[in-house]
Amino acid sequence: MRKKIVAGNWKMNNNAEETEDLLNDLIDKLPNDTEVQIIVAPTFVNLASAVDHLEFTNIVVAAQNMHQNENGAYTGEISADMLKSIGINTVILGHSERRAYFHETDTILAQKVTTALRHDMTIIFCFGEELKDRQDKQHFNVVENQLRDGLFHIQKEDWEKIILAYEPVWAIGTGETASPEQAQEMHEFIRETVLKRFGSSVAEEISILYGGSVKPENAKEIFSKPDVDGGLIGGAALKAVDFVKIIKGI
Ligand code: PGA
Repeated sequence: MRKKIVAGNWKMNNNAEETEDLLNDLIDKLPNDTEVQIIVAPTFVNLASAVDHLEFTNIVVAAQNMHQNENGAYTGEISADMLKSIGINTVILGHSERRAYFHETDTILAQKVTTALRHDMTIIFCFGEELKDRQDKQHFNVVENQLRDGLFHIQKEDWEKIILAYEPVWAIGTGETASPEQAQEMHEFIRETVLKRFGSSVAEEISILYGGSVKPENAKEIFSKPDVDGGLIGGAALKAVDFVKIIKGI
C-alpha cells in the first residue's frame, strides 16, 4: 500500500553504545501520532539489539544489505535466513555505495531481490543515475534500465513487498540535492515505467522515496511533490533531532 515512509540509512556509523543512544533519542523525540512509516538501518552487528530496543514501537529495523545465496562459503556475508532469524524483515538493496564500491551489478541485485522475496522480506530497492548520465541527458534511460534489470523479473503480487528509493548518485552525501522539480519529474517517470510494465494498480500503490542530501531544511519541499512518498536519509539520520524534523516535514 502506498504510504509515507522515512528511512534512515546509518551506513557504517555507530558502535553498539552509539546505536543504543541514537535509538533512545529517537524514541524520546518521535511524535506518537505520526502516520509516517519510520525505518532505521543500523549496521549488521547492531541489528539484533535494535530489534530488541524497538520492540514496543512502530519503528521498523532494516538491514543495509544481504547476500543473494542461501548459505555457504561466502566469508563475511549475511544471508536472508540469518536476518529473518533475528526479526529483520526489511532489507535495503542496490544502494549506490554497494553498486560502486562492492561491484553489485544489476544481475546480482536481481538475484538478491529474488532471494529476499523468497524469504518474504520487504525490499527498499535503490537506484539512480550518476552525474555524467544526467549531463549526457541519459538519466531517464539509466533509471529505466536499473528498474528493468533489477526488478522487472518479479511477479505483480510481489510489488507489495517493494519500496523504491530514487537516489541520484551526485546528490548522495554531497550536500547537493535534486531540486523538488527534478525529484518530481523523475518520480513521475518511475511511476509511469512501473505502470507500463505492471499496470496502474501497482504503480498507484508503490511508495517512491527520494534520497540524496535530504535535510530538515529541504525535506518539506521535496516531500510536498505528488509522486514523492518520503525519503531515504543518510547523514541527517544520524542525529535524532534532524531525523525527526525530516519526519515532521512530511
Ligand atoms: P545522504 O545519503 O542523505 O547522506 O546523502 C543518502 C543515502 O545514501 O541513502
